[in-house]
Amino acid sequence: MKTIDLHVHSYFSDGSLSPEELTRLAIAAGLGAYSLTDHDTVDGIDRALQAAEGTGLEVVPGIEFSTRWQHRDIHILGYFIDYRSPSFQEQLHGFINSRNARNEKMCEKIRALTGFPISEEILIRRFPDAVITRAHMAAWLVEEGYVETRPVAFDKYLGDNASCFVPKEEITPVDAIRMILTHHGIPVLAHPLLYSLTKKQLEALVGELKEAGLKGMEAVYVLNKGSDEAHMRALAKKYGLLVTGGSDFHGANKPDISLGTGLKHNLEIPYSLLETLKAART
Ligand SMILES: [Zn+2]
Ligand SMILES: [Zn+2]
Repeated sequence: MKTIDLHVHSYFSDGSLSPEELTRLAIAAGLGAYSLTDHDTVDGIDRALQAAEGTGLEVVPGIEFSTRWQHRDIHILGYFIDYRSPSFQEQLHGFINSRNARNEKMCEKIRALTGFPISEEILIRRFPDAVITRAHMAAWLVEEGYVETRPVAFDKYLGDNASCFVPKEEITPVDAIRMILTHHGIPVLAHPLLYSLTKKQLEALVGELKEAGLKGMEAVYVLNKGSDEAHMRALAKKYGLLVTGGSDFHGANKPDISLGTGLKHNLEIPYSLLETLKAART
């Protein structure tokens, strides 16, 4: 059976591999297609596509938006977005700039409190291809020897209740869905079971997002256990949503998970899911 993986990260967000390395790995794994779904950026897609040219491997352009809903991080995947369109690029950069402004504010607080010479500029120089997040601040603080470990960096300075925390400007899942739909993409709720929601809360979320134009749910997911997939497929069916699936591959940053096959080969995502996804394009 031809298999696929619709949830993959490169080093343009928090994965460890380049788009070219991912494409080579997908070919080696015998996948029919994979989607590059970096967090809040589409910058790796052209390179992944280029590397796949003439190989028979399909690369599906994707993105994974970080959004906030009722004080929780909710991830919205977007597939087949017209990602090169200037208006999409502009909206995306507006979103990233508000995050960078937050990073700079946090760096200022750390400098004021500790004297450590951290700054947005230094972080960009150290992690030139990444969308900078608190994880990068923590990595830098550890690498430079200012803090012993990343958890300590979060405890002391970066965590939600720590001394240098600044809340980020929030986009809601509905904002992300609108942005995806406006640019002819297909919005999908990522890993619905990772949000620690009760059954009732999850249904409330799915109902609200369906209303806003959600088209699919990632019912097939690497961390599913027992009857999780069956439950998520039933929920998708109830709300008229298509089903997608992915390993959430991060390379060496989540070393137990393999591209396409997940945790100890617990995934086998049929190509037919991609056909359904393609059929939903507008
Ligand atoms: Zn996610
Ligand atoms: Zn992900």
